[in-house]
Amino acid sequence: MQELTHYIGGANVKGTSGRFADVFNPATGEVQAQAPLASESEMAHAVDVAAKAQLSWGQVNPQRRARVMMKFVDLLNRDMDRLAEALSREHGKTFPDAKGDVQRGLEVVEYCIGAPQLLKGEFTDSAGPGIDMYSMRQPLGVCAGITPFNFPAMIPMWMFAPAIACGNAFILKPSERDPSVPLMLAELMEEAGLPKGILQVVNGDKVAVDAILDHPLIQSIGFVGSTPIAEYIYGRGCSNGKRVQCFGGAKNHMIIMPDADMDQAADALVGAGYGAAGERCMAISVAVPVGDETADRLIEKLVPRIEKLKVGPYTAGDDVDYGPVVTAAAKQNILGLVQSGVDQGAELVIDGRDFSLQGYEDGFFVGPHLFDRVTPDMDIYKKEIFGPVLSTVRAGSYEEAIGLAIDHEYGNGTAIFTRDGDAARDFANRINIGMVGINVPIPVPLAYHTFGGWKKSAFGDLNQHGPDAFRFYTRTKTVTSRWPSGIKEGGEFNFKAMD
Ligand code: NAD
Repeated sequence: MQELTHYIGGANVKGTSGRFADVFNPATGEVQAQAPLASESEMAHAVDVAAKAQLSWGQVNPQRRARVMMKFVDLLNRDMDRLAEALSREHGKTFPDAKGDVQRGLEVVEYCIGAPQLLKGEFTDSAGPGIDMYSMRQPLGVCAGITPFNFPAMIPMWMFAPAIACGNAFILKPSERDPSVPLMLAELMEEAGLPKGILQVVNGDKVAVDAILDHPLIQSIGFVGSTPIAEYIYGRGCSNGKRVQCFGGAKNHMIIMPDADMDQAADALVGAGYGAAGERCMAISVAVPVGDETADRLIEKLVPRIEKLKVGPYTAGDDVDYGPVVTAAAKQNILGLVQSGVDQGAELVIDGRDFSLQGYEDGFFVGPHLFDRVTPDMDIYKKEIFGPVLSTVRAGSYEEAIGLAIDHEYGNGTAIFTRDGDAARDFANRINIGMVGINVPIPVPLAYHTFGGWKKSAFGDLNQHGPDAFRFYTRTKTVTSRWPSGIKEGGEFNFKAMD
């Protein structure tokens, strides 16, 4: 059995708490490794190391810091297959999906190569007689990030790349479900020239998270995960005086107008609803066709597409559509919610409950499910399922459809499929959701825009990546300076004073 480590002070360090979490191969159900769960004192040691290393890293000029990012991009490309393989083995997602996970992280690293430009600050010449005023962005010190299982490469990179490019040290507490890729990323950052101690990976559970929340030297915390934990971390982190941003769960609606291209909408729904086994915070989990006739046409198009989906292990080739879910507990939770949908009266059009894969009977595979005639009072509508389950809620009108999305407690992503520019524009303007797609089912913004939801999907002011990340990981200092010797009363320059 492989025993994983922490990565502290530039070395793989064994856990000393005596506590471990099982890391599964979700395709086979076997435990393939054990991740150490850090104690409070192991976390305190990592913070100490980070704080000392940051003193000199914060003084390194931004161009040199950017060069580390440039080299890191090269190494990510060099090791893309190795990273994706390790990722698929622990997470279960298909090999192309795993590469996408690394790629979307890499794109934020590329954005961070612009650190010298992004950190330039502001300058006002002659704000008054002999007075100049300038603002600079300085690093915070030691920052921390707590990440979910579903994007074990992308989300850590979304956090540590901008934090480190801004001159901070970073402590990453990845998900205990799939910690290998974060450890590999830390090694690659060091190979790229990052000094030891600037990026540390401390594996753990609530004990490690609480140690982060309460440590006085940690200045900022980024969190991505489920909403109840996001609320907890936001509350305790803020009350400890830290800068905190937390991104939580989702229930993303896609509205299908009667004039939509139904083939395009059905293709989009299948990819967005079932890709990565529905374990994406930007997955579409609710389809809202407007009008019964639209609903009937949509279901008719969806059924054969969903029945064709190929579910399997990542080793079965690139034509696998999605793999297993992450743990047996996740599978049980999904199947429990499916049962609640049946019990509460939704129509289960495609039933994946008996799905089984020959040779992988102990894997955590879940067949695709499609519900029709779901109503807003049902648990499958209210709760995030995070599995391959798509619910259809039939709306009588556009107003009813947009009202559903507006009233839902989550506000991460949403989409409308239509040929009507008026409807699309009205939807984009009125919807209270952070990321909106128009005929685009998963509107994940690119690295140079920012990523973040509204309502119960995000807590804090700034979004992830893009310009917001450079604001989140720096604080502004504004200097007002006066050099009065060369200035005459009235502001006219006195050349004689220069002699
Ligand atoms: P999770 O909330 O269970 O875990 C996230 C992190 O919190 C992990 O590092 C975990 O170790 C830690 N954690 C878990 N329980 C804790 C506790 N009681 N106290 C302190 N820390 C704790 O989430 P997950 O299952 O890993 O990820 C799936 C969730 O993440 C989904 O809800 C999904 O929507 C969400 N997510 C959101 C976004 C976004 O940008 N909004 C992106 C990806 C995933």
